[in-house]
Amino acid sequence: MKDNNCIFCKIANGEIPSATVYEDEDFRVILDLGPASKGHALILPKDHYQDVCALDEKVAAKALPLAAKIGAAMKKGLGCSGFNVVQNNGKSAGQTVFHFHMHIIPRYDGGPEMVTWKPGEASGEELEETAGKIRNEIE
Ligand code: AMP
Ligand code: ZN
Repeated sequence: MKDNNCIFCKIANGEIPSATVYEDEDFRVILDLGPASKGHALILPKDHYQDVCALDEKVAAKALPLAAKIGAAMKKGLGCSGFNVVQNNGKSAGQTVFHFHMHIIPRYDGGPEMVTWKPGEASGEELEETAGKIRNEIE
């Protein structure tokens, strides 16, 4: 299903041009307009899913192998030494386009630096209590 008001639906289905690095029947992979590093790519399913929770299982099963394929091609083609797979769900998590997508961000020796989190602290008791709150809700 497509969403007529969704820019990533239009890009994924070729209605809006993009710098495409890969396309198959389920996905289009494009370069991000505001790259975090050279070659920053976005994996877009051609059908509209708001986020990872809404994603079709068959599409989901193809997404991670595709991320690996794109990352491997970046290492060969761009000379990056690593890459991040980033996927945001919800406004508080930094999602700005509400059509599921995965960021593949090439990482080069010597930068650019990227924001990471500062490790916090938690006791074993606290971890166990928190784990229980999640465990109890798994469907
Ligand atoms: P997120 O914050 O995870 O929702 O990521 C949205 C990403 O889409 C951002 O990195 C934007 O730079 C990128 N973006 C937004 N519009 C376009 C567009 N028309 N073409 C390519 N990338 C886009
Ligand atoms: Zn969409």
